Amino acid sequence: MKNDCVKCFQRISEYLDGELEDKTCHEIDEHLRQCAECREYVDSLRKTIQLCKGTAMEQMPIDIHDRIRSKILELLCM
Ligand SMILES: [Zn+2]
Repeated sequence: MKNDCVKCFQRISEYLDGELEDKTCHEIDEHLRQCAECREYVDSLRKTIQLCKGTAMEQMPIDIHDRIRSKILELLCM
């Protein structure tokens, strides 16, 4: 597993929440451009977030963060 991917995943929830500085955001954008695996994962997270909007708004962020955490663990164990 590439270190860049792990770094990317560690920030992905903040990235999707729009909480990152422009510079960091740009770094992730850059990585996603080069890495199909991360791009695919971010896309599926985005879709999940969109689906959850308007339904289980309270529970959604926790669920997403759990998924990201388990994905990071999975990547680190590879
Ligand atoms: Zn990656």
